[in-house]
Amino acid sequence: MSSHLNIVLPWGVRRTGLPLLSMRCPDCRSESATTGDGRFRVNANGKLLDVWLLVRCTSCDRTHKLTVHDRAPVRSLDPADLDGYHISDPDLVASTLLDPQLARRNRFTLDWSGAWRLDVSSPWLDEPWPVDVEVEFEDPVPLRPERLIAQGLGLSRSEVLRRVKSDVPLRRPTTTGFAFTVMPTVVPKE
Ligand SMILES: [Zn+2]
Repeated sequence: MSSHLNIVLPWGVRRTGLPLLSMRCPDCRSESATTGDGRFRVNANGKLLDVWLLVRCTSCDRTHKLTVHDRAPVRSLDPADLDGYHISDPDLVASTLLDPQLARRNRFTLDWSGAWRLDVSSPWLDEPWPVDVEVEFEDPVPLRPERLIAQGLGLSRSEVLRRVKSDVPLRRPTTTGFAFTVMPTVVPKE
């Protein structure tokens, strides 16, 4: 038998819905808002256009308008996006919400709890040899590798830190793909 079995397991991180927004409501002081069904509001003023994404306080239902475009010349906008704003296209709502520029401009952060899932290709079996895993992010969900790996392998975080080797820092949140190797529990003797 070959002494080296190279198993690579592909994992995927993808969103299952839209994340909530962490932002302070001026009315009720709640710190959570939702895009709900996802609606834009467009206001034309001559050749200039204002576009907002409407979000709702999860506690008192107050509507907040998040600035997407502020007095933008109509011609500067992609015609497909323009249509999308008018019909509140769900894909455009998602890409607008996930655009870091919107968060910076409107001072909120995304709350991804419950809005993503980890797909593991096959059940994890604790093999007596090193196993390689490649994680691909289909959506930019910020996750700490150590937590993600613990969840995917069903191991404690301390065991993950002990047995996992990776080029990425395991405790720093990432939104991009990475690979890691899981070492066996007991290193076989030569
Ligand atoms: Zn509120």
